[in-house]
Amino acid sequence: MILNEPQAQCPFCRGFMTGWLSRYPAKSCDLCDRPLFLLPNIFRKHHLTILSALDVAKVVMLPVVAGATVSFGLGGLSVDAFARSVAAALLFWGLLDVWDGTSGLKTGIDRVKRRIRRDASARRMSAAKTFFGLTSVVLGGLGLLLVQ
Ligand SMILES: [Zn+2]
Repeated sequence: MILNEPQAQCPFCRGFMTGWLSRYPAKSCDLCDRPLFLLPNIFRKHHLTILSALDVAKVVMLPVVAGATVSFGLGGLSVDAFARSVAAALLFWGLLDVWDGTSGLKTGIDRVKRRIRRDASARRMSAAKTFFGLTSVVLGGLGLLLVQ
């Protein structure tokens, strides 16, 4: 799989890389170090779209968590099963934030929603993400251990 564009734009930091430069459909951004992967473009034939793995994972998680909450509300999930899915979601979300935060600390590029920062405030935000990410990982992990 090859990306045909001479320049590839990172969907995370909006920076331009000089092409994809990897034989694999997944790599990290040359600039911000966030994980990226290629997907065939559904609108343009023979074109590939670059997606940010962290963003996609978060978008995929929302309906999963919402689905667990709804089925718990409707009585389809036991309290234990619901607590387990919340703990697992917390753990996974924390891992994503730790990944995001440590990449931001390394490269000095951070993004919250659509706002990209590239200075001291980016590193402060990345440090906060890493800290809160680790906290969720610990809480989620404890939750999974405690709820049997
Ligand atoms: Zn990037």
